[in-house]
Amino acid sequence: MMKRERVLIVEDEPAVARGLEYALKEEGFEVFWARTGAQAIEITGRQQPDLITLDLRLPDMSGYDVCRALRTQNHRQPVLMLTARDEELDKVLGLELGADDYMVKPYGLRELISRIRALLRRAYGDLAAPSADQVQRFEGLEIDLTRLEVRLDGNAVELTPTEFRLLRYLSARPNVPVSRSGLVEAVWGYESDVNSDRTVDVHIRHLRQKIERDAANPTRLVTVRGFGYKFQG
Ligand code: CA
Repeated sequence: MMKRERVLIVEDEPAVARGLEYALKEEGFEVFWARTGAQAIEITGRQQPDLITLDLRLPDMSGYDVCRALRTQNHRQPVLMLTARDEELDKVLGLELGADDYMVKPYGLRELISRIRALLRRAYGDLAAPSADQVQRFEGLEIDLTRLEVRLDGNAVELTPTEFRLLRYLSARPNVPVSRSGLVEAVWGYESDVNSDRTVDVHIRHLRQKIERDAANPTRLVTVRGFGYKFQG
């Protein structure tokens, strides 16, 4: 029998949590529920869920703090952040925070479940495996596909797993424009929508700050106006 995947719902509103729990159980997931940040951290340590959906506003602490605490304790499960306001997007996807994806409330349950499946595939499925035993070298920039390391002018650059996948996908296609929706499907593993296109832009901006010598005038990750991006090789 296939192992059932286990999802921890962190949500202080019982009605929202119950709706989500019901939908996930219908889909065959095993579900845990935490109402507070402290419970979320405790249950994660005890049950080791495969994925965590994390409400941003909790009674005892913010979802940001929960996420940070989990990462500090070396919990690496994918975290899907659920926010009520999309101006928080930038912070949610913030570099040091470690959230993997986000959705803005109110979200559709079907959409949420497809995000959860995509995150699980990315984290535990074939997309998690390194693609090849090789190092890509461009002028000043080295991308080590085996060790998942990037160096700019010889200095190690810290990328999040999502940033690395995004860079790897683009750098494997030098000078070829890739649409935002193409990137969403290839890197995030689901069909694009308005929010996910913005997600791409935020991650590109972060990547530029890390791998461009001058992030304001990018020469490597170039915008293709009205379409997407290309990696200048
Ligand atoms: Ca809440």
